[in-house]
Amino acid sequence: MTFLQANFFKEPFFFGSYSSFLFIFSRSNELNALMSQVPCVKIIYCKGYEERYPANPVENPDRVRLSMEELRKEGYDFVEPIYACLDDISRVHGKEHIDRVRRSSHFAIASLAASGAITAAELALQGEPAFALIRPPGHHASANRAWGMCYFNNMAIAVQKIRPKAKRVLIIDIDLHFGDGTVSIFRGDHRVRVVNPGSIDINFDYLSMDVSGYLAQIKSAFKDDDYDIVGVSAGFDTYIKDWGGLLETKDYETIGEMISEGSQKCHGRRFAILEGGYHPDLPLNIVSFIKGFD
Ligand SMILES: [Zn+2]
Repeated sequence: MTFLQANFFKEPFFFGSYSSFLFIFSRSNELNALMSQVPCVKIIYCKGYEERYPANPVENPDRVRLSMEELRKEGYDFVEPIYACLDDISRVHGKEHIDRVRRSSHFAIASLAASGAITAAELALQGEPAFALIRPPGHHASANRAWGMCYFNNMAIAVQKIRPKAKRVLIIDIDLHFGDGTVSIFRGDHRVRVVNPGSIDINFDYLSMDVSGYLAQIKSAFKDDDYDIVGVSAGFDTYIKDWGGLLETKDYETIGEMISEGSQKCHGRRFAILEGGYHPDLPLNIVSFIKGFD
């Protein structure tokens, strides 16, 4: 028995310390309450994401810059992306496609976005939930072509990078638009499941879907299988005032919570990366999602 243990069981010490014990106990409860208010999701971000490049004007630097400012006000920790190498991108995209992007003016920022996604996935793998506040988006990029303001598939690149340590992956794509690039990359890979909530309605009847129907599809994504990690393609254009016209700001917090709870099956390993979302309320929706995701 060590000295400390021996002393603890001596009665005078124990009774004499009872009030101290209660004090410590109540302080630890206070501490726990305080800790639960401290944001723990890490935000992956760097100045490079604010670069302006030729694109549809809706995809502009303010999307991430204003969101970053809002998250800083909320007290979140920021982490710089670790640069991806060509091998990371080549795991997903063919040489022709990479060369095509390289010849365009988008290569640097597209690689930086992929880097942010990888950094988020690696943090999640270590038990730290993360959100990559990146642009350009990526979920319309397949192995050999891309459209819809996407160049490299950030989610697929991140998932393939961590694959040796996370065999079974659940990807939930909450962007308004179907993540065709991600689905095509993982088609035939039975250990990666991609769920596009708005698009898996049995009648493909998105326009008459209500919020509860949408949320139910996210919940059901966690029903059947076990996963090693959950990745979220977090697009915010399903927002009520954006193109999708469906979800309120508070619904994004609910979605974040549902995914956070669902990920407890895989020890809370979860990360999210920004896809679309073009309304000026984007920063509020991102903050709302991350609050729930925390
Ligand atoms: Zn979209």
